[in-house]
Amino acid sequence: MPTRRKFIASSAAGLAALAASPSVEALSLPPAPVAGKPQVISTWDTGLAANLGAWKVLSKGGRALDAVEAGVMVTEDSQNCCVGLGGNPDREGIVTLDACIMDDQFNCGSVAALERIKHPISVARRVMERTPHVMLVGEGAQQFAVAQGFPLEAQKLSPDAEKAYKEWLKTSQYKPVVNIENSGTRNTGPVGGANNHDTIAMLAQDVQGRLSGSCTTSGMGFKMRGRLGDSPLIGSGLFVDNAVGAAAATGQGEDVIRIAGAHTVVELMRQGMSPKAACKAAIERVARIKGDKAKDIQVCFIAISAQGQHGAFALQKGFSYAVCDAQNQQQLIQAEYLLK
Ligand code: ASP
Repeated sequence: MPTRRKFIASSAAGLAALAASPSVEALSLPPAPVAGKPQVISTWDTGLAANLGAWKVLSKGGRALDAVEAGVMVTEDSQNCCVGLGGNPDREGIVTLDACIMDDQFNCGSVAALERIKHPISVARRVMERTPHVMLVGEGAQQFAVAQGFPLEAQKLSPDAEKAYKEWLKTSQYKPVVNIENSGTRNTGPVGGANNHDTIAMLAQDVQGRLSGSCTTSGMGFKMRGRLGDSPLIGSGLFVDNAVGAAAATGQGEDVIRIAGAHTVVELMRQGMSPKAACKAAIERVARIKGDKAKDIQVCFIAISAQGQHGAFALQKGFSYAVCDAQNQQQLIQAEYLLK
């Protein structure tokens, strides 16, 4: 048994060692003063409409956490988009949804493989606020949602998803497709189509400088039953450290998970990189790991620093992100990319 004196001596030494470590020091810093500059950024062109939903909250001085929930709910509501119940199903023909949310205090919640619930992001928030857990999956997540009053929707594909699924059934081959944004049609099969992403990730900073993030997806279309990607995983699809910044991902989830993507981007910002440089360094890491196979996938990151700078970077051409703030109103920015 250590004596009290020894314990004090050893804990003092431990604290001194901790204080010497730059990462712990950075963690204990108060949030940088960015009050008065609310902003929201989100992935893909569907981010434009979603940002407006978030801006309604931010522009009234509301909380970033409320903004990132309200914002992606706009996309979850849309039947014309591959996010939410209008999204592409798994290879059994069932739509399964994943989502997560994180605030400025390391509070986070997540749901995965959730069926027949329209707003997985709101269920993720309830997990965060009303359970002792961070993540609920499958049947348990659905039971929790229903107990919380979320209506159970019909098990039915949207007309677009049904068409895409029928097309896919002709070959029934799962092959990752490179997510791109262009002609406005959805992924219809193994060779991929245009505008074939399945996710929206959103990061916001409110007037008090608080950061929060959300991410919601139907996952890769025609995935194996039970497959989860990065989007519901705190640290992969989304990470927020209010003293440093926030980051989120979209694209091939397996390759985001491999490098704990969003967390990696935030840690790179902690080391002094700008949001864009941090996103680029994480993309370079993915490319190094994938080698020749990097050309077959898409991975994209967006980030905001605690000081209010934003940035993004993608592996391939075709990734855009939407920005909304008081100065520039709405803009869609084509992200730079690695593979030229
Ligand atoms: N990251 C998502 C997943 O792997 C897909 C996407 O971003 O489109 O499930």
